[in-house]
Amino acid sequence: MDLNQASQEQLQQWQTQLQQEFENFKTQGLQLDITRGKPSSEQLDLSNQLDGILAGHYNSSNGTDVRNYGGLDGLPEMKQLGADILSVPQERILVGGNSSLTLMFQAMMQAYFFGYAGPESAWQQQDNVKFLCPVPGYDRHFAICEHFGIEMLTVSMNEDGPDMDQVETLIKADPSIKGMWCVPKYSNPTGTVYSAATIERIAKLGQIAGEGFRVFWDNAYVLHDLNANAPALASIADYCQQHGTEDSVLQFASTSKVSFAGAGVAFMAASPNNLAAFKQTLSIASIGPDKVNQLRHAKLFPDLASLKAHMMKHADLLRPRFEVVLNRLEEAFGDNDLGQWQSAAGGYFVSFDTRPGLAKRVVDLAAEAGVKLTPAGATYPYGSDPQNSNIRIAPSVPTVDDVDLAMQVFVCAVKLASVEQALAA
Ligand code: PLP
Repeated sequence: MDLNQASQEQLQQWQTQLQQEFENFKTQGLQLDITRGKPSSEQLDLSNQLDGILAGHYNSSNGTDVRNYGGLDGLPEMKQLGADILSVPQERILVGGNSSLTLMFQAMMQAYFFGYAGPESAWQQQDNVKFLCPVPGYDRHFAICEHFGIEMLTVSMNEDGPDMDQVETLIKADPSIKGMWCVPKYSNPTGTVYSAATIERIAKLGQIAGEGFRVFWDNAYVLHDLNANAPALASIADYCQQHGTEDSVLQFASTSKVSFAGAGVAFMAASPNNLAAFKQTLSIASIGPDKVNQLRHAKLFPDLASLKAHMMKHADLLRPRFEVVLNRLEEAFGDNDLGQWQSAAGGYFVSFDTRPGLAKRVVDLAAEAGVKLTPAGATYPYGSDPQNSNIRIAPSVPTVDDVDLAMQVFVCAVKLASVEQALAA
């Protein structure tokens, strides 16, 4: 289907055919949802052993009775696991509750209201606080900034991570830029894995940024490879140590899409200064995390190797779903310019770009035919994609057959919207 060469007649003919196909989908009464990156119930079943795994033994490796209060920064065995996941020494880890997003929110709160280097360092002391947001990105990151009234500046994503020329130019010119969101491995939604060169440049931003600058390094998909020969991720902590910028990066991860999405364990890795400030505030907010759940996880995942083996079982369930998505896209758009996408080697998403101006129409058409997609614009700050072209596809939850059906509807919607646009031009 080459819209650039097509006559009006040909376009009208395609429109009629596509409308027919679309009406056929509508009569099927579909109710399919490829909106959010959640594990399927089959994936959740992989961790059902968590239930009852303690079998009445409630003591951690250092003898702590995990049923009681205390232990603000987590159990030693879980700190070790967090340290192995994020490639930092154990003493740099804080083990939290069930959500890394909550830790990120709290880390933002610390920076904004209380400061990591005393009250004078709190961002709220300034008139205007800005953050860099590589786009497309994760809607909940943007929601946190919006909630704090932090102005978001977008930077584009290249194949090896954020456009660092752009990032460095912006940061050098404006000391009110106080931070940057990064999802360094299998970025949500593009699946980008940051190169070592990009990671080193990010680690050096602390040398050129204004006071109090913090990179929020959300390594949510650090373990989520789809294949055994996964790309390696360089350690930002090592680069920070090398360049004397340890305070400028806060790292996060969790077992949300490893064990139970709503009942996992979250980790934060940070410099001694950052951890001390964060813990001071945390000690006001909490007497300690859910150590029972931490111990359950330590039993299920005694080391990184067991965790990686477990993730390969997830990969076996996810791979066919991603294959269906990529096959349908390749078949429909491999030889034309109606859409562009990135095929990730891990994570939870496929990021698709329609021709400019069509994402909203495609999402609406798909919804009309019973296929729910993430709202167009959600992958941009303030819900506003200037090109109106990016759509995030999350195929993990429906069955393989349902993902296939949803993708057939999606393809039809993209084609129909594209032909409508060409006819209107
Ligand atoms: N970070 C990213 C990039 C995500 O995509 C998600 C969930 O989709 C989260 C964080 C949420 O993590 P958690 O469940 O640990 O709060």
